[in-house]
Amino acid sequence: MNNTQSTDLVFDLSHSGRRCHRLPACDVPSSSTVRELLPDEYLAAGPPPLPEVGEIDLIRHFTNLSARNMSIDTNFYPLGSCTMKYNPKRHERLAALPGFADLHPLQSDDTTQGMLELLHAMQEYLAEISGLPAVSLQPAAGAHGELTALYVAAAYFRDKGQTHRKKVLVPDSAHGTNPASAALAGFEAVTVKSNAKGLVDIDDLKAKLGDDTAVFMITNPNTLGLFERQIQTITELLHAKGGLVYLDGANMNAILGITRPGDFGADMQHYNVHKTFTGPHGGGGPGSGPIAVRDFLAPYLPAPVVAKVGDRYRLNYDVPKSIGRVRSFFGNVGILFRGYCYIRTLGPDGLKAVSENAVLNANYLRARVKEGYDVPHDGPCMHEFVASARSLLRERKVKAMDVCKRLLDYGFHAPTVYFPLVVPEALMMEPTETESKETLDAFADVLLKIRQEDPEIVRAAPHTHTICRPDEVKAAKEPILRWQSRPGRATPLPGTREATDGNPAGAP
Ligand SMILES: *Cc1c(COP(=O)(O)O)cnc(C)c1O
Repeated sequence: MNNTQSTDLVFDLSHSGRRCHRLPACDVPSSSTVRELLPDEYLAAGPPPLPEVGEIDLIRHFTNLSARNMSIDTNFYPLGSCTMKYNPKRHERLAALPGFADLHPLQSDDTTQGMLELLHAMQEYLAEISGLPAVSLQPAAGAHGELTALYVAAAYFRDKGQTHRKKVLVPDSAHGTNPASAALAGFEAVTVKSNAKGLVDIDDLKAKLGDDTAVFMITNPNTLGLFERQIQTITELLHAKGGLVYLDGANMNAILGITRPGDFGADMQHYNVHKTFTGPHGGGGPGSGPIAVRDFLAPYLPAPVVAKVGDRYRLNYDVPKSIGRVRSFFGNVGILFRGYCYIRTLGPDGLKAVSENAVLNANYLRARVKEGYDVPHDGPCMHEFVASARSLLRERKVKAMDVCKRLLDYGFHAPTVYFPLVVPEALMMEPTETESKETLDAFADVLLKIRQEDPEIVRAAPHTHTICRPDEVKAAKEPILRWQSRPGRATPLPGTREATDGNPAGAP
């Protein structure tokens, strides 16, 4: 991959007066009218300092920018837990069908029967796959599903007069959103330890479980890629104390059609449609995090739910104890749509095959990675596994992050790094079901090669990318998501306040 060419910022291409277009002369009253009506303080000093470029330079700029990203369509992307599986292009075509894509969310039920039927079916499929009968499609992402389900649990306990249940137990291997959602929903998050095998420490769970426990949030298979073999015991312990079991079903890739959370004792779960059922995601969205719950929790679900009355579909707002709306309209329908396509295309046998292949691929890759890296929790894994670069750090002062950065030079996206927190120098890998043996081998070969490389080179990687090691905390806390004029520019752009001293004559 060579993206270092044509890295010119579009600003540097700017030449006063260049345009992608020529507009006809303005035939509405000139802006002087506006200037008379609006107080000075609301008036811009002039047009924004946008770069002035011709169409060909603009097209090259954006096309080159787009090629700087890694994506599942361009590179192997073994991001554990977050699941970057292939997004079938057929779904994009179907989602763009005008009958669906051109709907307006405020249309009447009578004019949206097709979409409502699809959403109703999606509710039923998700209920069937989870073994939990009542579904809300509203939550916009996994973390939002967690929060919604915890609100549902809180409403349920309030209704039963059990407001003393203040605690939500969370294993130390859990995704960070679990304790965060618990806190946001007004509970106190309490950590439960993992044992040496990477599974929930039952003694620690028993010690922390009490009459004040509301919910135990468990990820199964857990974030180490291990199935919690004691899940039945765990759910029985919780139910004996009157608590609820929440399954973090963000990633269902190992168990589709093989086992169901409802069958192993969970009372509620969320799905990440964007992870398990191929909603293209990344960069913070879009997602879809429907929840499925047991019958006795259904009265508290967000309204509306999609109901079937006779042979018609309608939105049912009559959910008397509903926690209320958690999302405008019906959730991220575009992602639900793609999930629906995936489920319908594969059918029950196909979904099961997805999980079988995801587990097979993960175990194959795990066996190859073990040739050069520690894999602390032994035994077969589910859809993902966690390796560690700790011996590499000890022997060669090369960190997990360095390995990840070096992988980029070889054209592979990095695995999930430094998560779960229970494994030092964690490299969490999820190859997904669609990758070929050749791709898995190529990736493993490179990982083993990096292990032998000159540490200086690995620590300075990547060497082939324009942006190498950004400040990730700053990037997350202070994201720059829209165009800004660059501070500290030597020469002011035409049309700016600085250039024209408040009397601009730049872009039309
Ligand atoms: C991704 C993930 C979440 C959160 O899902 P978002 O859609 O990113 O909010 C929660 N739990 C696990 C295990 C995950 O992998």
